[in-house]
Amino acid sequence: MSYIRKLIIISCLAIIFVSGCAVNPITGKTELMLLSPDQDIEIGQAYAPEIKEQLGGPIDDHQLQQYINRVGQSVAATSHRPEMPYEFTAVNEESLNALALPGGPIFITKGMLLQLETEDQLAGILAHEVAHVVARHGAAQMSRQIGMDIVLSAVVRDEAPRGAMTVAQVGRQIINLSYSRDQERQSDIAGIDYMVEAGYNPYGMQQVMEMLEQAAGVRSIEFLSTHPSPENRVQYINARIRERYPQFDNVRTRTQDYNRNVLDRLN
Ligand SMILES: [Zn+2]
Repeated sequence: MSYIRKLIIISCLAIIFVSGCAVNPITGKTELMLLSPDQDIEIGQAYAPEIKEQLGGPIDDHQLQQYINRVGQSVAATSHRPEMPYEFTAVNEESLNALALPGGPIFITKGMLLQLETEDQLAGILAHEVAHVVARHGAAQMSRQIGMDIVLSAVVRDEAPRGAMTVAQVGRQIINLSYSRDQERQSDIAGIDYMVEAGYNPYGMQQVMEMLEQAAGVRSIEFLSTHPSPENRVQYINARIRERYPQFDNVRTRTQDYNRNVLDRLN
């Protein structure tokens, strides 16, 4: 057992009565987690309106929103934490991005939607975000990169105290939070399983990551700055699908559905 792991377990034992540790259902490992799942939900709900506005507001198309939500809910339902209050919103932001708040609010940008080609690809990106919620990566990164006291102060107070950051400032930082490459790998791998369970072709995930990496050669891609690409991302996704889901070789993808519900409506 490594020193770090010993330290985590000892810390967990020490604080178990005041707070707790949580098992990450994706890795099966116990991690130090200072927030309860209910607090995750509270934080997500507190910042969702601010972040939605900062991302250009929701796209004003009820049918489009219903469609995004239907695809998102289908992969969330097959996740390790189907009970979280997931909510999927397409926002007007032109950059290529998708992001998840603790506890369930998930956003995907118009810029990203216009680059996707199939419903499987949409399911892939949403399943990846669902996995971040499941593994509680957002809360962990907020503690590290912003400071949980700052995040929580904006949750519990209507007005931030002098010297503290406003909800808008914290919101901007949350949008720019970056995950670790290990967290990205966890979300890719778990997302593949959620997709297949929900009836999607997992190659959609591989295609999205290929598209993003190619687009990154031309301009900077917000998704990749907040979701940094692990080494050999496309290769390990491909290897995982071939090994676990050989039945998807040569399976048709849901192109027509996506075109009708997204591209035809946005173009
Ligand atoms: Zn990610």
